Amino acid sequence: MKAYVLHKFREPPVLSEVERPRPAPGRVVVRVAAAGVCYRDYLAWQGFQRVKLPATPGHEFAGVVEEVGEGVSGLRPGDAVAGMMYEYCGECEYCRSGREYLCRSRKIYGEDLPGAFAEYISADPKSLVKIPPGVSFEAASFAACVLSTVVRGVRKIGIKPGMRVLVTGAGGGVGMHAVQIAKAYGAEVIAVTSPAKAEAVSKYADHVMTSKVFSEEVKRLGGADGAVEAVGGPTLEQTIRSLNWGSRIALVGNVDPQPTPVALGLLILKEVEILPVIQGGRRDLEEALQLLAKGAVKPIYTVHSFSELPRLLEETPKASHLGRRVIKFGS
Ligand SMILES: [Zn+2]
Ligand SMILES: [Zn+2]
Repeated sequence: MKAYVLHKFREPPVLSEVERPRPAPGRVVVRVAAAGVCYRDYLAWQGFQRVKLPATPGHEFAGVVEEVGEGVSGLRPGDAVAGMMYEYCGECEYCRSGREYLCRSRKIYGEDLPGAFAEYISADPKSLVKIPPGVSFEAASFAACVLSTVVRGVRKIGIKPGMRVLVTGAGGGVGMHAVQIAKAYGAEVIAVTSPAKAEAVSKYADHVMTSKVFSEEVKRLGGADGAVEAVGGPTLEQTIRSLNWGSRIALVGNVDPQPTPVALGLLILKEVEILPVIQGGRRDLEEALQLLAKGAVKPIYTVHSFSELPRLLEETPKASHLGRRVIKFGS
């Protein structure tokens, strides 16, 4: 089969002919139909995720079950599935309490396991969720990494109908979907983005702000009752200042390795809680797929061919695309 192989960090992955995975007992082989390109892939390519080389990158995928190994129940060849971005043991205290995203034996596709920038991928059935009717492979490919993470964040901050929710980084792949997911939960959404993306974001949000000092403007609307912070350091202080007393911030998609100064006094005075979200779990992915199937969230992505991957990786930090970039196989 064809697969990209990374031999050296910061050098383009090489499109290679490699052996197709066989279905080991308890595992399935999925023919990849679509694979998302994420900032995490860029970091892995740069050598930040301690990937052992050579490696096939890619952790966002959806496809069709091709073969099932001995002892697999619940999945059959021909089933359309979305992948979680990791595998988990199912037996440790985290897994048993429904927090598989904290599993100490968690293995991430494309980093600890062969990844999705290949025609086929071997997967643990626990990490695969059937795609409901009406959801495309392209949308399903990034439902785990992008949507399920936000679903968990939205649940953590307790969004209820009528709440006013702030979303920063609203023009990014995470942000554009966070705006829609917060809306799907009944929130009035204030989106903060760059002027270049304001028009696109205004299709989904109730209010759009482009100032770097947005807290005054938010306060004029009555303040926010919760926030999805999808930027991190550069916006966190303004986010805290925008919030009403006792509100919660879900911290998602922040990949900046630099420490961020936080006004602790302000946090305490307002009793604002910062709640980090590493990823979604299996039921968050199921819920994300249902939101897509119901049409409550419109997936935003651009479609690319397999041969574009090296360029897409390289362009990641300066990309001005809207939403996710998805590689469609067979295109
Ligand atoms: Zn990702
Ligand atoms: Zn576990």
